Amino acid sequence: MNRKPKVAIIGAGLGGLAAAGAILRAGCEVTVYEQSGSLGEVGAGINLTPNVLNALRLLDLEAGVLERAFHPENHVFRDWRSGGVLFRAHVKSQYLKNYGAPACNIHRADLHAVLRSGVPESVIRLEARLTGLAQTTDGVVLDFADGTQQQADIVIGADGIRSSVRRCLFGEREPVFTGNVAWRFTVRPEDLPQGFIAPDITNWLGPGGHVVHYYVRAGALVNVVAIHETDTWTEESWALRADPGELEAQFAGWNSALFRLFEHATPCFKWGLFDHAPLERWTVGRASLLGDAAHPMLPFLGAGAGMAIEDGVTLGLLLSKGDVDPVQVLRRYEALRLARTARVQLGSRARAKENHLRSPLARLRRNIGFRFRQWFQPDATLHRADWIYRYDIERACGGMDADGVLKEG
Ligand code: FAD
Repeated sequence: MNRKPKVAIIGAGLGGLAAAGAILRAGCEVTVYEQSGSLGEVGAGINLTPNVLNALRLLDLEAGVLERAFHPENHVFRDWRSGGVLFRAHVKSQYLKNYGAPACNIHRADLHAVLRSGVPESVIRLEARLTGLAQTTDGVVLDFADGTQQQADIVIGADGIRSSVRRCLFGEREPVFTGNVAWRFTVRPEDLPQGFIAPDITNWLGPGGHVVHYYVRAGALVNVVAIHETDTWTEESWALRADPGELEAQFAGWNSALFRLFEHATPCFKWGLFDHAPLERWTVGRASLLGDAAHPMLPFLGAGAGMAIEDGVTLGLLLSKGDVDPVQVLRRYEALRLARTARVQLGSRARAKENHLRSPLARLRRNIGFRFRQWFQPDATLHRADWIYRYDIERACGGMDADGVLKEG
């Protein structure tokens, strides 16, 4: 193909917008089709690790994110009942030095707004719900719910955990309920006693559940997520209202500091956590997947949004090569991204088990392990996630030449 491909992205979530920004920078024509009539207001806290900030720097969006985010001092594990510290990783003092970027926590709406700032309004079509697609020898035809059709050289399904693009490519692959329910709410620090919430990411680990809290909006809001195992199936909607009484009953017996927070759980939302086993493939011809459509995962490594953003930036880098064959690019993209994201998906599942140990003996063994790591590896990351944070997208894609064009790799 001796012109840059015309790219259709389905979904203007975090992954779709990151991909749009990156692919526009590669000089391609991009259209983003989003089913909603408005964008970005739903959701709350998102964790961003150094690999993601390094990726956002390639889109000139790192500064905008850091300005709106909160920069935690430490990542701390606490005991569910006593509140005693089990492990403390030094985020602020170590990550920039170790990985070339800090870590931060940001409100989803703020991150969405920053990603959107890298994409002209004219590129995004709202109220455009994809219902089907067909591949021809030289392109893709997209069908929308309003009966219209569009054409593109490549289509990227960034349409989330219940992806229509994935269904079109691989048939029905329903996400699986993981047995975990999450409640989330935000609290204003001025509604709590002075200094009540440390400037850390704090995880309280207990039998069958854990609670995470951290600041967002440069410290103007505290994001709280409480996760517990349950036998009851729950919708994975992000906007389902929950009864705060149900949250308090579920965490009965946990540290009283958490109940001071739960008093402020209005409004409170809940959602069931779903994931998929890693897919063997994401790509068929001129169509591929990205973000939760490709690799929905539990949030326990705090990496879901980050992996979606890395996917998008990778696609942009691969398309920035001079003369690109779209089919080859998508194959290369899948080869670069599938193994890494599958490892994060499986790592997030393993983390769920370790966070939620029910046997007191197993918890004691785990906590002794934390103590040893704290003594002998005081700079370790809390989730043994060095391999996630150290990732260098440009190197993975084969590096750039002096003109900023990717070398063959
Ligand atoms: P998503 O962010 O889920 O975006 C998918 C997009 O595709 C959505 O905008 C959706 O409307 C659109 N879409 C779906 N189907 C179609 C279709 N057929 N045609 C056109 N468009 C379609 N994670 C957290 O950690 N904390 C949160 O508070 C949080 N809140 C969220 C709130 C919402 C409303 C959503 C959609 C997701 C939220 N997430 C949250 C999840 C998080 O954003 C994702 O896990 C992660 O960022 C991966 O992003 P993604 O772009 O792959 O998918």
